[in-house]
Amino acid sequence: MKKSNLYNPGSLKIDLMLLGTRIDDPVVKAWACGSSGVDILLPENTLVNIPCREEFTRNSPYLITRRSEKYFITDGTGEVEVSMVPRPAFYSRKTTTGIPFSSIGVVHGSYTVITPSPRCDFFNRSIECKYCAGNFDVTGRDNVIYTVDEVVETVEAVLKEKASEIIYFSVGFSETDDGGIEFLKPYIKAVKKHFNCLVAVETVPPKANHWIDETYAIGADSVLYNLEIFDKELFEIICPGRATLIGQKRYMEALAYAAKIFPNGTVASHLIVGLEPPGSTCMGVDFLTSIGVVPILPIFRPSSNKALRIEPLNTEIILPVYKHLYKAIKKNKINLNWVRDISMVTTPVEVRGLVDGDKSKSLMENFYKSKIGIKTAWGLSTLRRKLRVKDNKDSSD
Ligand code: SF4
Repeated sequence: MKKSNLYNPGSLKIDLMLLGTRIDDPVVKAWACGSSGVDILLPENTLVNIPCREEFTRNSPYLITRRSEKYFITDGTGEVEVSMVPRPAFYSRKTTTGIPFSSIGVVHGSYTVITPSPRCDFFNRSIECKYCAGNFDVTGRDNVIYTVDEVVETVEAVLKEKASEIIYFSVGFSETDDGGIEFLKPYIKAVKKHFNCLVAVETVPPKANHWIDETYAIGADSVLYNLEIFDKELFEIICPGRATLIGQKRYMEALAYAAKIFPNGTVASHLIVGLEPPGSTCMGVDFLTSIGVVPILPIFRPSSNKALRIEPLNTEIILPVYKHLYKAIKKNKINLNWVRDISMVTTPVEVRGLVDGDKSKSLMENFYKSKIGIKTAWGLSTLRRKLRVKDNKDSSD
């Protein structure tokens, strides 16, 4: 009989992200309405966003139930109590210009994603990534661009409500050499000027490394260039735009350079589990960690028309990949404190309990997970940047 994952939050999170859940309670259904899944807090404060709408979730063994105002998740063999993560209150409010805050900022646990211009020019050329949900496709219509003031208002709403501590700016592909950082610059600078918060930036790799220095100098605390697929041939087939206009080699060079500029543990790259064989993902993990980059491993969520997922794929097959990730991070002494508490992916910290013989939590890791720790991390990162930018100026003078 298949072993239940119910009682181990790390493997339960992976299983839930892979299989999704069914929901039969109207209150929970309403809760899940309007977002990409349902956010739930599993035991041991493990946050997960569970797919619940897609076709594949109909066959999931998991079901969320409600009894006497308590919530449970069951797989048919037992159940564990969980907490529903409340929908942020600011989602129901608008900017002074009338834009719903929920259109500008989306909370994913410890970070809130803001995409000031939801547009990706791969779509114009029909070379978009094959797994892309298409939200950035503005072909044939006007592109929305939120103003700096609208973004600052949104960040203020996020931080006032303490919805997350990290503001995560993302931008799709555009035909510029800087990867999109020049476009994001006024937003990042304004947020850094007005608030004491950490800022992460996801762009495509810029053509030259001086844009990476610039990314750090303008205030980004963390940077992501998402490779997505390590296998070269699959990368070319599944990500034709990234392959032809940027190239896997440039992703790797830019990540290696960024890891030398940014603090340990703040440069990250996604490798999507389920779009390539697990062994290939492990090779990607080895490569990224060897250059000081944190691999983040989201699980591919197939929609009905995008049958890209490798089969068979189940938690027994992919659990070793996450264990490998944790061991590789430890081996390469990469700081685990920045990439954590994310509802959409399993982070290396959450896998720790799955790796035999390493269930201890270091004092520093616990410290940085605390509210005081977050503030200290912000202070340290500001100081470090000042010194680093000064060093660069001195050497170029
Ligand atoms: S880079 Fe790829 S995944 Fe990202 S928005 Fe463009 S097409 Fe979609």
